[in-house]
Amino acid sequence: MKIAVRGGHNNSVTGTSQLLNEVKEDRKVKDAVIKYLKELDYQVLDVTSPDSCNTQGKDLAYGVNKATDFGAELFISIHFNNAYKTYDGALGTETIIYPNSKTAYPYAKRINDNLVKLGFKNRGVKNDSRGLYELNHTKCPACIIEVCFVEATTDVKLYKQLGVDKVAKAIAEGIVGHSIEDKKSQSSQIQKKSNNTPKKTYSVNYCLEWQKFYNEATSTKKPLILNGIYCKNTQNSLDSLLYYIKQSKKYKYCLEFQRFYNSVTQTRKPISEDGYWGKQTENAYFTMVKLIKGEY
Ligand SMILES: [Zn+2]
Repeated sequence: MKIAVRGGHNNSVTGTSQLLNEVKEDRKVKDAVIKYLKELDYQVLDVTSPDSCNTQGKDLAYGVNKATDFGAELFISIHFNNAYKTYDGALGTETIIYPNSKTAYPYAKRINDNLVKLGFKNRGVKNDSRGLYELNHTKCPACIIEVCFVEATTDVKLYKQLGVDKVAKAIAEGIVGHSIEDKKSQSSQIQKKSNNTPKKTYSVNYCLEWQKFYNEATSTKKPLILNGIYCKNTQNSLDSLLYYIKQSKKYKYCLEFQRFYNSVTQTRKPISEDGYWGKQTENAYFTMVKLIKGEY
């Protein structure tokens, strides 16, 4: 999955600055978010504008255009908020999306929830009411994260206590939809994996294709993240759809699965697309599970 990440503003068109300097901090958070995503093998492009983008228009267009050229499937813009000259207390965190965007919402919700879990006051996921450029011109789901308020004493204290890395990790975990193990335990896991039979790789990412199929076929309100990575949520989707597939023509899913299977595998022996659950479809289903897990 391709993700474009940027820190808001630049040194020519500066952001806000009180107890914290927005540009300075958003770049630190942005760098750490990118580090986490890359560790998980996401394709990430830093679309932060250089200082030579010396108007607000140039700054905003730079990020969006880079993301579009890259073919980004998700756009993340990191900011810090400001409302008052000074503020004694907590104002909190919010993530802004294009009004009622169904595709951006799951990311925004998880990111916001994760930041709230760290202790920031919850301002929630907000629909953009200002026609924000980054949300209106991106061609993919987009989130503007306002980590916290630069003038709010409690926000700033918490932000400093937590440190950039924890804040960035919470954001990255919100993006990918699962918790990220720290590097030590991760590398020991990779070690473990490489001692086993190596997982096969295919020219098609069956896991990704399944995730797309599942989201489209079910029109679920809680879509799977299209990351092509087999995890608990992917397994849950397999389990839950199997229940309906097994009921043949009672639901549309058996037929849709048969079509999906034939088209994605390009098999020379296509299974019949008849909407009936039988031995053939059962075999196809379990083959698909193996392909998704990389075990076939
Ligand atoms: Zn900003």
